[in-house]
Amino acid sequence: MSHIRKIAASKRIAMVAHDNRKTELMDWATANRELLSKNTLYATGTTGRLLEELLNQPVILLLSGPLGGDQQVGSMIAEEKIDLLIFFWDPMSAQPHDPDVKALLRLCVVWNIPVASNRATADFLFTSPLMHEDYLAEQTDYSKYLNRIV
Ligand code: PGA
Repeated sequence: MSHIRKIAASKRIAMVAHDNRKTELMDWATANRELLSKNTLYATGTTGRLLEELLNQPVILLLSGPLGGDQQVGSMIAEEKIDLLIFFWDPMSAQPHDPDVKALLRLCVVWNIPVASNRATADFLFTSPLMHEDYLAEQTDYSKYLNRIV
């Protein structure tokens, strides 16, 4: 039996941007300031500090990404405390915390989380009527895995 996870109309959004993409995320956030203000924002440390200054809206700050922030976002996703992720990761530079980046993206698939890694996808997500409504996200049934014989 699959489990349904309710994503409420007002969403818990996590935001992360690697250094080379922070400006792009700030530009996007400025353009989407009004809708962002209707949701609860979480962010990795440096990204969150910039967003708070820019938006004049409280942002729940996690640790800086390379110091564990990406893993904090991942664990919140697994605990059903984050509904949507805007993650502008850098495709052109090696990151010291590359395994954490991969782990975070993996958990988004495991938990069926909408993710935007670029501005076009973020625009498509934010213009979706589902941003203003409750949404019932179907959750993959992991009971077979959990009940496996080991
Ligand atoms: P930062 O972390 O917001 O603290 O810069 C982002 C990241 O590199 O994951």
